[in-house]
Amino acid sequence: MSNPILRTESLSLVYGKGTPFEKQAVKNVSIEINRGEVIGVIGHTGSGKSTLMQMLNGLIKPTSGKVFLDGKDIHADKKSLRNVRFRVGLVFQYPENQLFEETVRRDIAFGPHNMGLPEEAIEKRVKSAAAFAGLKPELLDRSPFDLSGGEKRRAAIAGVIAMDPEVLILDEPTAGLDPMGREDLLSQIDAYHKSRNNTVLLVSHSMEDIAGIADRVLVMNHGECVMLDTTQNVFSKAAELEKIGLRIPQITKITSELRAKGVPLSEGILTVSEAFEEIRAILKKEGRL
Ligand code: ADP
Repeated sequence: MSNPILRTESLSLVYGKGTPFEKQAVKNVSIEINRGEVIGVIGHTGSGKSTLMQMLNGLIKPTSGKVFLDGKDIHADKKSLRNVRFRVGLVFQYPENQLFEETVRRDIAFGPHNMGLPEEAIEKRVKSAAAFAGLKPELLDRSPFDLSGGEKRRAAIAGVIAMDPEVLILDEPTAGLDPMGREDLLSQIDAYHKSRNNTVLLVSHSMEDIAGIADRVLVMNHGECVMLDTTQNVFSKAAELEKIGLRIPQITKITSELRAKGVPLSEGILTVSEAFEEIRAILKKEGRL
């Protein structure tokens, strides 16, 4: 029996309803997210990804349709809606803009504090969240405004992790970071997920980021969910994705072209390290290594 942590029923959102600027950002999205899954969320700019994510944690109320967290309608009453914000943690794109306390420690403690946790528990959470986000302990007593761009991002992510949300939603967490910073942050997110076994939704423009981390991929196009399937299945549909302005990871493309030329590689290779291992094994077998 399926028992999803999050489920939506015909979720729709119209911005500026009844005005000349009316815009339907999300249309009839019905999805199920299972406990412990990592879901990659892709779609071109304006396809409704951010709007959908903000509806999943109750920040935006749908124009129509419902969101169920653990089987309960999140808009059923005000008190449970407050809890939803703690249980479904949302890290915005450029979250560093939301740092506002005097010290990094106080910023990270803000969520747990609002949850009404005792001081000792808050301090514990701040420390472990900072470690998970890859933030050095000596930065905790600094002003968030003195941190570098990457450190600010990590501090903001730690602030959400500190609430220990059952579902962690990250909206383009690696946007604007350099390749090392991206890789580092992604492996930190992966380590966090593995240790907590919580559910993660990761919105990204980078197919490589998604391929390396996601169990399933949700594809948005013009406000609709057009695919929600395993990462391999989604990235095996190169032509369909191309039609909606998306591409598959480059390594998947190259390895499938090599396969078509007779190189005995597996179907649906998603990461460079997988490709590397397979090519090495082939060369060894052929006595060339
Ligand atoms: P994505 O995250 O995929 O880029 P968004 O959810 O941000 O997509 O936006 C979906 C659509 O809704 C876009 O056409 C965008 O311009 C519009 N939109 C987003 N936020 C607002 C808003 N606050 N008011 C009006 N329109 C908005």
